[in-house]
Amino acid sequence: MITLHATIGCFWGGPAVAPTRGFAPMRSSVKAAGRYAPQASERGSRADRQAQAAAALAAWPAQLEPAVPARAWKYIVLHHSATTAGDVLSIDEDHRGRTDAAGDHWLGIGYHFVIGNGHGMADGAVEPTFRWREQLQGAHAGVHRYNDEGIGICLVGNFNEGPPTPRQIDAARTLVSQLAGRFAIPRAGCLRHDDIGNTECPGRLFPWDQIAGPLSVKDGWVAGSRMMPVHR
Ligand SMILES: [Zn+2]
Repeated sequence: MITLHATIGCFWGGPAVAPTRGFAPMRSSVKAAGRYAPQASERGSRADRQAQAAAALAAWPAQLEPAVPARAWKYIVLHHSATTAGDVLSIDEDHRGRTDAAGDHWLGIGYHFVIGNGHGMADGAVEPTFRWREQLQGAHAGVHRYNDEGIGICLVGNFNEGPPTPRQIDAARTLVSQLAGRFAIPRAGCLRHDDIGNTECPGRLFPWDQIAGPLSVKDGWVAGSRMMPVHR
């Protein structure tokens, strides 16, 4: 069931975001070594495809690989914090104060990654949260499908009032391309929050094309990704 709710800032108050305690991480359906195997839809020579696959693997930093088996992520969902300052701890505290429809408190911060803006976290710093380390479903999208299968990335700031910092943009672009390469997420699977819900997140001034515009394989995008534009 898909449940949509209006939001305050980026955050959802509805029942669809209730995290499940004790969730057992799914084992990725494709092992890392085989994930980049050429697909029928890919073009180019076998050598080209092998080079593209190697580039995607090389772009994935080992420190981002979780210690537990990775979920089979299919989407990346970008958010803003709708605050001028913040860090993982402040967002975690805020989210712990929220309750689901059953009255149970959220487990904590709903995102998998936070990117700082120099106010609370270093400008451009990327910090994984417990949801990434433990490969838990997110609590950020307001839609079960995108919480279960979507990696939630939050950039600190209110991008209705101003754009992210250049370092945030660089960090977000790099992280998105790395995640897309690692999990073979097509361009069409990279979304802004307002693509899937009734929200202003991540803000009118969010520089979508700079962060998730057409990217090269060098940036980590795998060959065969559908370059179908789904955004305005
Ligand atoms: Zn959001």
